[in-house]
Amino acid sequence: EDKDWSFMVRVRAPAGRLTAAQWLALDDLAGDHADGTLRLTSRQGVQFHGILRENLRASVAAINATLLTTLAACGDVVRNVITSPAPRRDAVQARLEAEARRLSDALLPKSRAHHEIFLGAEAATAPEEEPLYGPTYLPRKFKIALIHPDDNTADVLANDLGFVMHPEGWIVTIGGGMGMTHNKPATFPRLADAVALIGPDEVLEVAEAVVRLSRDHGDRSDRKHARLKYVLAERGVEWARARLSEDLGRPLRAAPPLPRLSVPDHLGWHAQGDGRWWLGLHIPSGRIAGRLRAALREAVERFGVNPIATPGQDLLLSDVAGADRGALEAVLRANAVPLPAAFTPIARAMMACVALPTCGQSLAEGERVRQPVLEQVERELESLGLLGERISLRLTGCPNGCARPYQGDIGVVGRAPGLYTLFVGGDFAGTRLSFAVADKVPMEAIGATLAPLLAHWAAWRVPGEGFGDFCTRQGPDSCRALAGATLAA
Ligand code: SF4
Repeated sequence: EDKDWSFMVRVRAPAGRLTAAQWLALDDLAGDHADGTLRLTSRQGVQFHGILRENLRASVAAINATLLTTLAACGDVVRNVITSPAPRRDAVQARLEAEARRLSDALLPKSRAHHEIFLGAEAATAPEEEPLYGPTYLPRKFKIALIHPDDNTADVLANDLGFVMHPEGWIVTIGGGMGMTHNKPATFPRLADAVALIGPDEVLEVAEAVVRLSRDHGDRSDRKHARLKYVLAERGVEWARARLSEDLGRPLRAAPPLPRLSVPDHLGWHAQGDGRWWLGLHIPSGRIAGRLRAALREAVERFGVNPIATPGQDLLLSDVAGADRGALEAVLRANAVPLPAAFTPIARAMMACVALPTCGQSLAEGERVRQPVLEQVERELESLGLLGERISLRLTGCPNGCARPYQGDIGVVGRAPGLYTLFVGGDFAGTRLSFAVADKVPMEAIGATLAPLLAHWAAWRVPGEGFGDFCTRQGPDSCRALAGATLAA
């Protein structure tokens, strides 16, 4: 019997930048062929769910017609290249965006197979050359981010390859990745190492060399051990720099220590520096449906704003004329779309992956328990007078870690239906890995399990100390004892 197959389609949007026309085309597609929802991903892309098999080709063709693509948004290739989402009109931002686009274009697979299958292109008559990927592509997906130290919204250290702006060029970071499997210690989340310092114009050349490093040294016998992070963990930074130097035919300089990274708040109104404004909207779990979708459509149609997907699954409406600000807010208000001021700092920074029922990997709920988990933690913070604090809370339905839960102040990772592993000790800037403090915590008990830790933070923090920083200073054993006491009671 023929089943009613439906598909997820992911759109690649380098640096998350979309034009007004592209947004309207994607919005049409959500209504015509998908389940009425646009989903902003944690890598500045856009996903559609529920596209029926018979509509698949038309959907991919429609996306292509907007000059966006679904090519290499999934698979064992270089994925969507991400960077700071801020549309600030300055040299730093222009460079980040330009490099992200350049890498994204240059590192696309050359094969025309995608065009043949989905876009009706003529079949290739000669064998195809894939100069970078080779005949067997990469052992696993490959993620790239570029940042300036003042804006690590993209969580650069969670990527296989990162470029951090430096006065002399770029610090190259290699070997980050979030995914792990419960009870398999050979799999682990890892932050990238600073491997080399390169000149301002060497980004693409070095990126290609790092892709080759992954291609030639990643473990092809075990997909759970195939990411570049395991190569770095096992062979080390010096080895990686030596291989890359060999590949490039010149010695690479060792990297200086990474500068301090920070994460600004892009939500609300900000001046772009060119007389225009952007309005950052918090989009819980990146889910755009119903009145929110209608309001965004109207805002894009009426004011010609260009939307930008952030690495935090939020949306920035850029290029707003000063005179349109009031009218744009009125459109949002008329559709009951909350402005960022309506959210607490912890809500604004929260990420929750889609998980059930859509993601085949999920072990527990993600998006659908976002609100109850948030409310539990908010209640504890409120009782301690700390509701105004910036804390990153990241929830995923499985340990793959799409919402990067091992980097935040608090990570909540699906373990089994209704049960979660809790992590603390990362930081808001995404520069430190967290550690597990409690396992198999029922969803309803997450706030109570964290409560003693939060209370200790309130009582003993040094001025300005973040929750994750405090937990790290306490150490895993004492944090586990505090969290475990609640579970045992
Ligand atoms: Fe990613 Fe796992 Fe969440 Fe699915 S359930 S979106 S694989 S983290």
